[in-house]
Amino acid sequence: MTDPHIQPIKVLSDNYTYIIRLDNEGFTAVVDPATVAEPVEAIEAGGGRLDVILNTHHHHDHIGGNAALKARYGATVIGPEADRGRIPELDRGVRDGDRVALGPLTVEVMATPGHTAGHVSFYLPDAGALFAGDTLFSLGCGRLFEGTPAQMWRSLERLRALPGATRLYCGHEYSQSNAAFALSIDPDNPALQRRAAEITALRRDGRPTLPVPLATEAAANPFLRADDPGLAAAIGRAGADPVTVFADLRRRKDRF
Ligand SMILES: [Zn+2]
Repeated sequence: MTDPHIQPIKVLSDNYTYIIRLDNEGFTAVVDPATVAEPVEAIEAGGGRLDVILNTHHHHDHIGGNAALKARYGATVIGPEADRGRIPELDRGVRDGDRVALGPLTVEVMATPGHTAGHVSFYLPDAGALFAGDTLFSLGCGRLFEGTPAQMWRSLERLRALPGATRLYCGHEYSQSNAAFALSIDPDNPALQRRAAEITALRRDGRPTLPVPLATEAAANPFLRADDPGLAAAIGRAGADPVTVFADLRRRKDRF
């Protein structure tokens, strides 16, 4: 078991860029660099090495630092092959099921379409970490810009099926507003109440609400519970299939 150091860096208004550093190897990767200055500061503080840039999807607030970071450090840019042409400086396009080496760690690429058509998530089984970009947020999920509810629900089901101890690292600090929506739907869920209280306390201290174990999200996040009969009943959709329930939840959140 190699235990990398994973550092969230808050950039722009509410984005997270993550630095993954393997101290024994010196190997360093960055996930979704929206900007240049903040990752450079973190990379320089950690020895001035950047080997790999991982992009979950093509949105500007996940790729804005690619070109400058690659030019400065010679890092290899890895992102969805489906977004070739929309991800600057993409070196290696990846697809569902691909495996990428991060030093001694393995990254498993999972296609998670819905927010964008080509969105991928990066699962590091050895580290028990999942970088889900804008697919899964704590107590929420990404908006459907390029995908259908059926695609997004399938993506979320696949992420939910990973080991419950897996720590979720996502692309935005949306947890507090997500908690307000989730509680409006599912106010009597004790797992949600506990997670919402934790989020409130962390934000009061100005701390990130990530990572969070997937098991916590599976119990508390309404978007991961679209196949729960109780949740379907709570929104007046008793007996409806999970995709219908999920689509209804997503529409409600878009208007919330
Ligand atoms: Zn996005």
